[in-house]
Order: sequence, then structure tokens, then C-alpha cells
Amino acid sequence: LEGNRVRMYTCGPTVYDFAHVGNFRAYVFEDLLRRWLRLRGYEVLQVMNLTDVDDKTIRGAQAEGISLRAYTDRYAKAFFEDLDTLNIERAEIYPRATDHIPEMLDLIERLVDSGHAYRADGAVYFSITSFPKYGALSGMKLDEVLAGARVDQDEYDKADARDFALWKEAKEGEPYWQGPFGPGRPGWHIECSAMSMKYLGPSFDIHTGGVDNIFPHHENEIAQSEAATGQRFVNFWLHCHHLVVEGEKMAKSKGNFYTLRDLIGQGHHPLAIRYFLLSGHYRHPLNLTQEALVQSRAALQRLWDFRDRLEREAGAAQSHPEVLAILERTQQEFIEGGDDDLNIPRALGALFDMVREVNTALDNRLVAKAESQRARSMLRDFDRVLGLIETERETVEERILLLIREREEARRQGDFAAADRIRQQLQSEGIVLEDTPEGTRWKRA
Ligand code: AMP
Ligand code: ZN
Repeated sequence: LEGNRVRMYTCGPTVYDFAHVGNFRAYVFEDLLRRWLRLRGYEVLQVMNLTDVDDKTIRGAQAEGISLRAYTDRYAKAFFEDLDTLNIERAEIYPRATDHIPEMLDLIERLVDSGHAYRADGAVYFSITSFPKYGALSGMKLDEVLAGARVDQDEYDKADARDFALWKEAKEGEPYWQGPFGPGRPGWHIECSAMSMKYLGPSFDIHTGGVDNIFPHHENEIAQSEAATGQRFVNFWLHCHHLVVEGEKMAKSKGNFYTLRDLIGQGHHPLAIRYFLLSGHYRHPLNLTQEALVQSRAALQRLWDFRDRLEREAGAAQSHPEVLAILERTQQEFIEGGDDDLNIPRALGALFDMVREVNTALDNRLVAKAESQRARSMLRDFDRVLGLIETERETVEERILLLIREREEARRQGDFAAADRIRQQLQSEGIVLEDTPEGTRWKRA
């Protein structure tokens, strides 16, 4: 909408627990998108919200008898650690829902004043029949909707499309905010409308999420925002398909989930997990298996070995046109791949063709210094998007520190078997741990 500046909103985590790798499929996809845009010369302003008030966060805080803020702070912190582990670039702004209650109330007031929302039983509901476009994003027919029927939960099926809660009346013992509609708290959907428009304006370029967000969450966001402003809310919607385990969506509620920490605890390299998550096209389901993670680790190693080999070897005295041709073709195909609806698998295919062909050329001493330097610099460029090649040397250290923290935690909880497993795993990688009165130190054997 605005020159080469892209404004983009991303539905972020509900910080009530550790995110699972299914969630990280969405965050890695969004990371690829922003990195691709930046590679192609756009400036990106990305906003990702943190949902820190909803049924799940309230329940969690109550169960531990601590404040909502203290409870959600813990998982917000874990979320940022996990982003770093996966080498996901930070968005520009991470607004928290509880810091934006006035903006939400303001939006709700506008909807009530314009007849798109109404009060009932201490709550405020959005009237979906007041917004004729309702259902357009998810392809739903409004005539099947029960006029005036209401739903209080934040998540529900298409078959239950109803007037949804913008503001919920305070319940006994729950945190609440005062406002024109009495004590209560916001519904989930209004959060994203209020926070996206606050930072990105009433109309912006891109909104992303997983396909499960299409209905009702994004449908509701469009209705609330456009009913209030009369302007088109979002130009492009991009939704990634699900990470699945044995054919089923990975989800907390199904119990078929792994956190990032689980996989790292099993010995998977963080960048192998990143590789796996970016190796499938975002529009298709991606199937998590141990085998896929092992293959990802091998693919990563090929990239690292190739990088190292380019730095070490260049035997030819003069340039050979066939080597130059490989590089030029790769450059073009990589860019065409990503430009084609973020087809990263296609871009990766071009990269691995180059690895194979240039490796053969290196075997045959056909690569001169100029070409190996050019290939090396192409890797650096591609890696601005992939985030797999250049950071390896730094992340080794971060990962060790993470494992040391996990081992300390295991020991605190008396789980010495788990603590030993971590020590042995590091030992097998040539890392030795030393327990000192000041804490655990590590060194290379
Ligand atoms: P939630 O915390 O459930 O709101 O999810 C946070 C983000 O993760 C949303 O964008 C979801 O669409 C996405 N998500 C949840 N489960 C999966 C999954 N299995 N695969 C891909 N994305 C998911
Ligand atoms: Zn959202």
C-alpha cells in the first residue's frame, strides 16, 4: 500500500504454556515471508501480538495462585527464547493484549454506536448479520446462520457461526477491567483488530496465521475492523497449513504435540528443526516424523560442508564457463522459487542442485577463486532467508547453554537420569561439562 514498505500482522501465541512445534511451523513460515520480502528490497514492519488474557491463561494463573502477569511473563519469556533457538527474526513490535484494553474498548464502543454490536447479559456481542460480507474469507453462507444466536467461547466451528463476544462479563475470581460496559475482559478476536490497527493503520498489506485461524478468528477480525472503519482491513491473507503427526493436526488438545524443548531434548539440532519446518511449502500439510528430522540434519550438514569446502578449496587457475553457468542458473532459480508464492522448497531444490554440481566441479578442479567466492557470497545471500548456514557457528554455543540449563533444571527436580542423558549427549559431541560451585561450565574435549 505504501511504496516498498510492507505492513504485516501476525497472530502470535497465547502465552499459557510452551508453544509446540506446530505453532512454530506458523512462526517459521512468517519468518520466511518477512525475510523473503526483505531480501527482495522491501522494508517490513511486522506486528505480532501476545495473547496474555483468555480462558487458558486465566485458568493457569489461578491453578498456581499467581497473578496473570507473572504467569504469562514466564511463557512469553520462553517464547522469545524459542524464537532465538529457531533463528526466527524478531518482529518490530510485540504488543500484549492486556496493555491494550483501552484501544479494544474504544473499538467496541464504535461498533455499538454504529449498530454492529449490542449488549446482552453484561457482555457485548458482534452482530454478524449486520456485516453482509461476513463469511467471505472462509467461504461460508450467511443464510445458514442462526440470527441472534450467541457464542461466548473464543474458538468454535463454522457450523456454530454466531454473534460472538467482544466483551465478556467478569466472573467470580477472574481478572477484569472497568469500562463503559461494566467490569469484564475482552474476547480474543477484538484483540487482534485493535492491536493491528493501532500499529499498522486501518488498512495494511498482509495478515498471516495458520489455516485454523481462518474461521472464526480472521473472519471475525475482518468483520469487527471493517464494520468500524468502513475500509478494507487487509490486502493479502496468507495462511500456512498444519504440521501434522500421523495425519492429525498437532494440537495441545489432542495430546499429540512436542514442544521445541522436547525435540531438542531428544537430541535434534535446532537448525535441523528449522530446516524441517521450512522444507515444505506453506500451503501444504507437513508431516513430522523422526526420519524427516534425521534427513533434515543430513541436508543441513551438506550445506555446512559445502560452505566450508568453498572456503578451503579452489583449485583451478582460470575460470570455467560451465561453473559460471551453474551459479547464474542457481541465482535465477532460487529467486524465481521464492517469488512464486514463497516456494521455498523450489528455492532449496535449486540450492542443492548447485551444491551437487559445484562439488563435482571442485572434484575436477574446475573452480577458480573468483567462482568459489561468488558461490560463497550467494550462500550468504540465500541464507538471509534460510537462516541455516551462517549462524551455525554461533548457535552451537547457545544450544549448549540451553542444554546446560535443562540439565540443571532436571537435577533440581531430582531427575538424574535426564541430567545424565544431557551430559552424555554433549559428551558424544565432544563437549565436556564441569560442575563448579559457580555453576556448570563447558569446554571442548
Ligand atoms: P494458538 O496459540 O493456538 O493461537 O496458535 C498460534 C499459531 O500457531 C496460530 O497462528 C495457529 O494457526 C498456529 N498453529 C497451531 N497449531 C498448528 C499446527 N499444528 N500447524 C501449524 N500451525 C499451527
Ligand atoms: Zn489474531
